[in-house]
Amino acid sequence: MDKDGLKNMESLYFGCNIILTTKHQKSKAISPSFFNALNAHVNECALDTDQLGTFCGDIERSGSAIECAKIKCEWGIDVTKASYGLASEGSFGPSPFIPFIPCGKEIIYFIDKKRDFNLYVQELSHETNYQMAEVSSYSEALDFAKKALFPSHALIIRSSNRDSKGLIFKGLQDTKNLEKCFENALKNSSTRNVWIETDMRAHLNPTRMKVIEQLSEQLAQRLLCLCKRCDTPGWGKIGAKKGLQCRLCQSPTDIIKAETFGCAKCRHIETIAVTTLEDRADPMYCCYCNP
Ligand SMILES: [Zn+2]
Ligand SMILES: [Zn+2]
Repeated sequence: MDKDGLKNMESLYFGCNIILTTKHQKSKAISPSFFNALNAHVNECALDTDQLGTFCGDIERSGSAIECAKIKCEWGIDVTKASYGLASEGSFGPSPFIPFIPCGKEIIYFIDKKRDFNLYVQELSHETNYQMAEVSSYSEALDFAKKALFPSHALIIRSSNRDSKGLIFKGLQDTKNLEKCFENALKNSSTRNVWIETDMRAHLNPTRMKVIEQLSEQLAQRLLCLCKRCDTPGWGKIGAKKGLQCRLCQSPTDIIKAETFGCAKCRHIETIAVTTLEDRADPMYCCYCNP
């Protein structure tokens, strides 16, 4: 079996309606790949997903991003009685790999009620404008705005930091409004400072939309691949095994030696070596030879 599984050239989702639970017009990013790859139609179900948590922190998300994506997905299916559902969830913070660099994690969750399986794909991306700052003048706010890709990307202004309650202005997309909200926040600030941050809601953040678009393509392609054991769509890469041996001392390194592919339903998995037996890692990646 090759790592691509069995490509089913005629999509099992041909002509199907897939319900996307979203408050923020994400079908723009998701529907093209689902239509092009699978001939499936993505229809939005607009529900107030802010109840499950917001980026600006006024409603805390309970549970993980994956759980949240799953709940959104099931919600849309319940409301519309659909057979297929989609939802996406993003989270932002400092990169776990590069100090002081922000990153975003996007998840797209899919549920097939008819075949009874759930499948999600996720991506950690450093392609994000996510940032926040405390500023004391409008010109500082403008400097921040420029770096944050304003006005194509929206901003949020607050009269006090995230932890305290104060005025909050979201979805700012033009300079006139930005200035007005800055002045208003400054007047109401107890510290003579204003907090400014990027608005991460998908419809106000084209960079985020692009990441969601790429991830949708990955998910749609995966739904074209069938498990050879049970014919369920969604066969694809689920992990990678590190440990390729060092050429000099034979110790295992962090270089990937095999990839694991799996089925979304029957849990059948296959491990495929990405290197041949003769392949060995360069000693520069060895923690003994190159400590
Ligand atoms: Zn070595
Ligand atoms: Zn299977």
